[in-house]
Amino acid sequence: MTVIESTIQPAATESWQRGLATAVRDPDELLDLLQLSDEWREPARRAAQLFPLMVPRSFLERMEVGNPYDPLLLQVLPLGAEEIVPDDYSLDAVGDQDAKRAPGLLQKYAGRALMIATGACAVHCRYCFRRHYAYGEDPKRLVDWEPAFQVLRKDDSIHELILSGGDPLMLTDRRLGELCALLQTIPHLRRLRVHTRLPIVLPERVTPQLLELLTAGPLTPIVVVHSNHPRELSGSCSDALRQLVRAGCTVLNQAVLLRGINDDADTLAELCEKLVDLGVMPYYLHQLDRVIGTAHFEVAEARGLELIAALRPRLPGYAIPQFVREIAGAPHKVPISEAPPNP
Ligand SMILES: *Cc1c(COP(=O)(O)O)cnc(C)c1O
Ligand code: SF4
Repeated sequence: MTVIESTIQPAATESWQRGLATAVRDPDELLDLLQLSDEWREPARRAAQLFPLMVPRSFLERMEVGNPYDPLLLQVLPLGAEEIVPDDYSLDAVGDQDAKRAPGLLQKYAGRALMIATGACAVHCRYCFRRHYAYGEDPKRLVDWEPAFQVLRKDDSIHELILSGGDPLMLTDRRLGELCALLQTIPHLRRLRVHTRLPIVLPERVTPQLLELLTAGPLTPIVVVHSNHPRELSGSCSDALRQLVRAGCTVLNQAVLLRGINDDADTLAELCEKLVDLGVMPYYLHQLDRVIGTAHFEVAEARGLELIAALRPRLPGYAIPQFVREIAGAPHKVPISEAPPNP
């Protein structure tokens, strides 16, 4: 992850930018705030050197004090287990490097191209599949994006542009507006999709200006958020999601199946139901990508299938996410299939 300071403009600091500036980055401070015992300190300090700790205080406030196994904490707490590297784990398990069409532009699937709009995130998820992505090579200034825009302008088979990262909502409204304005001049683009975790971890990011920016142009706006546990969807987070929906965005959620966090049917059912209550459709449940440092989060695929099967009789069909994994080189995310139920 790159340093976030570069995205903060000192003039007109907005509340979400203050939320970033005050995010917790020191493992000792995190453990103190949550009143956790000293046994976690040394491993946390070591693992934070591999991939820095970062968690906004508004996300931290949703954690239970004194509980080292809190499902929100486990997503951000650096652990000694990150140093365990099984043979079949790699740095780029999803084949991002082979999918590059221009600096900052990836394409793996027909009709959709993905821009790594920034390397910065508001939270550092320990299971992140882009933990090791070389963001430093991607464009920073607007002019650096020109080769990517050339590819997009020339290729009229691309109908959807996905802003991803990192987290594209880490960009200021000004920079986002500049990118959107350029995208709107490409006649064959129809949809703008934003892959972001900010509405979940830093809901203040969803401002009237942002809603205007996403919905004002000719491109159909789709926002894919990332929430793994129902407790993430409290208070201001639910307000932010409702606002996105009311403004006219199609809002979808992707979750990652994570050991000790959401690998039980009750948690997943509650997550999916809370999402649909807010107008957010469960989209994907991802099998963990085998990226170095994340092995302790893996749940067996067979267990994932059992969980999906347990959701089916409990929830409306539209509330069940597709359980998928990414296979490098495949032409789409690959569904992990269930056996049909016995009548
Ligand atoms: C996951 C992904 C997409 C989006 O795939 P959908 O199935 O359309 O959600 C697009 N491009 C890349 C490079 C991806 O990794
Ligand atoms: S927000 Fe997304 S890209 Fe950023 S660390 Fe979390 S999973 Fe990775």
